[in-house]
Amino acid sequence: MRVNRLATRVLTALALLLIAVLIAFVVSCVQEEEASGKIGVIVTIPPQAEFVEKVGGENVDVTVMVPPGASPHTYEPTPNQMTNVARAEMYVKVGSGVEFELVWMDRLIAQNDDILVVDCSKGIQLIEMAGAHEYEGEDYEHGTMDPHIWMSPLNARIMVQNICDGLVQIDPDNRAYYEANRDAYSQSLAQLDQDIRDGLYGVTNRTFMVYHPAFGYFAEAYELTMLPIEEEGKEPTASGLAHLIDQAKEHNIKVIFASPQFNPQSAEVIADEIGGSVVFIDSLAGDYVENLRTLLGELGEAMR
Ligand SMILES: [Zn+2]
Repeated sequence: MRVNRLATRVLTALALLLIAVLIAFVVSCVQEEEASGKIGVIVTIPPQAEFVEKVGGENVDVTVMVPPGASPHTYEPTPNQMTNVARAEMYVKVGSGVEFELVWMDRLIAQNDDILVVDCSKGIQLIEMAGAHEYEGEDYEHGTMDPHIWMSPLNARIMVQNICDGLVQIDPDNRAYYEANRDAYSQSLAQLDQDIRDGLYGVTNRTFMVYHPAFGYFAEAYELTMLPIEEEGKEPTASGLAHLIDQAKEHNIKVIFASPQFNPQSAEVIADEIGGSVVFIDSLAGDYVENLRTLLGELGEAMR
């Protein structure tokens, strides 16, 4: 009897020990998996992907909602992208009133209770949409704010700071890594800003015409005047077009800018009338710093 009872006790103790070892093993496996897994980050537009990747480095896996070539004013997410949002840890929104976010943000976020939403526009002063007073149409909505905040490198620095804060909140152990990355990229944005200032120094004709008014913050930062062709997101009317042709002549404009996301037809009409040419510039390219250097080259050339 006694021997039996002792054997039972020993066996029970061994069994408990085995269970404890198994639990410890499973827990350590799960922790290891979490530690090696990247932080899933969703962004709305391609330039934000560069911002997040520069700060997050190897620790982030970025998904862009509005793909290259699509317009954030009209794009709708695919079921696959919805799934990505459901699995992600952070959504980095532009936050300045981009239509995609106004229409979809609530529905996207509703799928994921734990997702951290970072507002890139926090700390950025919004400006009014350019061209708001150009037309005399009675129905123009005054006070519409310009959502294209990322087009000024100084705004980009603030966006990068907001992204860094978000990553530190999710992954505080790597704070030093994210902050060092932020500082390095922020430095290259400051250099870009200086190079644009230098590049446009002494340019006397500082007015440019572009189909889609995505360059308002760029124009404001570098004391340029942007004349948009598009009227409230639509093709200009015949009288609007005639007015634009007059303006182009008045400002001695020789290059009309168009964007890859939009139909260049009305830009071509104006260019034909003034004997100028159409050049494409992009506000949504993923290689942000490189793209702004290209933009500087195109603008500098056109306004000389
Ligand atoms: Zn736009």
